[in-house]
Amino acid sequence: MADSFLLNGKNASFEPGQTILEAAGNNGITIPTLCHLKGTTPTGACRICLVEVAGARTLMAACSTPVSTGMDVRTDTDRVHQSRKLVVELLLSSGRHDCMVCEANGDCRLQDLAYFYGIKEPRFKQADEFYPVEDRNPFIVRDFSRCILCGRCVQACNEVVVNRAISLGYRGAETKIVTGGDKAYDESDCVFCGQCVQACPVGALTEKKAVGLARTWETRKIRTTCPYCGVGCQMWLHVKDGRITKTTAVEDAEPNRGRLCIKGRFGYDFLYSGERLKTPLIRENGNFREASWDEALDLVAAKFKDTIDRFGPDSVAGVSCARSLNEDSYQMQKLFRAVFGTNNIDHCART
Ligand code: SF4
Ligand code: SF4
Ligand code: SF4
Repeated sequence: MADSFLLNGKNASFEPGQTILEAAGNNGITIPTLCHLKGTTPTGACRICLVEVAGARTLMAACSTPVSTGMDVRTDTDRVHQSRKLVVELLLSSGRHDCMVCEANGDCRLQDLAYFYGIKEPRFKQADEFYPVEDRNPFIVRDFSRCILCGRCVQACNEVVVNRAISLGYRGAETKIVTGGDKAYDESDCVFCGQCVQACPVGALTEKKAVGLARTWETRKIRTTCPYCGVGCQMWLHVKDGRITKTTAVEDAEPNRGRLCIKGRFGYDFLYSGERLKTPLIRENGNFREASWDEALDLVAAKFKDTIDRFGPDSVAGVSCARSLNEDSYQMQKLFRAVFGTNNIDHCART
């Protein structure tokens, strides 16, 4: 049976082991956070989720404080809001937050919080020196001037994809997110899954191919299944004017639960390649020439027939493609088994 505690003066239930953040969410109270990444170890890094707990001298981080029976928690007091606003002001001052030219504009939790607290101008002297932008790889742009050091990218890499390619490096004002030995992404153990980009709550990590293509409010999200392999990862296509601007993983959906690999996340632009084949090609004397579908299929059928006539049915084999529908794969094996008379069939996703 669930235990109870006091949440903003009302009785609320919680399950043993839940944090204040989780229990409040289950009771319809959203506590803002910048560093919390669902399913990973809480770090309490951003201090946005601070709440008042009766009897505690200081405000407590809701993401890392477990609830206990009878605890009296307040999430909406002046003291809480003053503290959160101060954190937002400090974060805004510690970076270069020129939203108008930022790819995250309209999809940024820091911007949302600044708007919520009515912050119109910097309260503190802004930092003026930053680590240089890193955009030498084809997929991810790192802009350290927008990094709020929330650590979500590190949690995503270490605990979600378990690749351990990035961590927090240096100390104090020098702190930065580093890939092994403070190298560039493309010189590190990074496999370019892009999970850190999906986890970044601001514009510090962005998709390189999406730069300048669309503002978030100009796109509509279309849910689909990744076409690359047989796993069937669930993904969103962010589409503007019929063109995909980027893809993200669907959170909380099986089988990938918010993850994608490099192909699913960054490999969509083959759609727009001028090198895509639009007609069948037949090789003659070492060169390809365009052909109609009828001509190409007749040629394939004749070659199969000739090979089987001369060497028997087991001289041919079929490999189905993971991008094919189940129905197409079924038809393929039926063709080979029932028509050609061989069990030599396979599927590329099996290996
Ligand atoms: S990271 Fe957010 S707050 Fe900073 S410039 Fe970009 S949109 Fe604005
Ligand atoms: S792209 Fe993937 S592997 Fe590379 S740093 Fe980000 S989360 Fe880690
Ligand atoms: S790069 Fe993004 S996710 Fe990583 S620490 Fe900076 S702001 Fe947070």
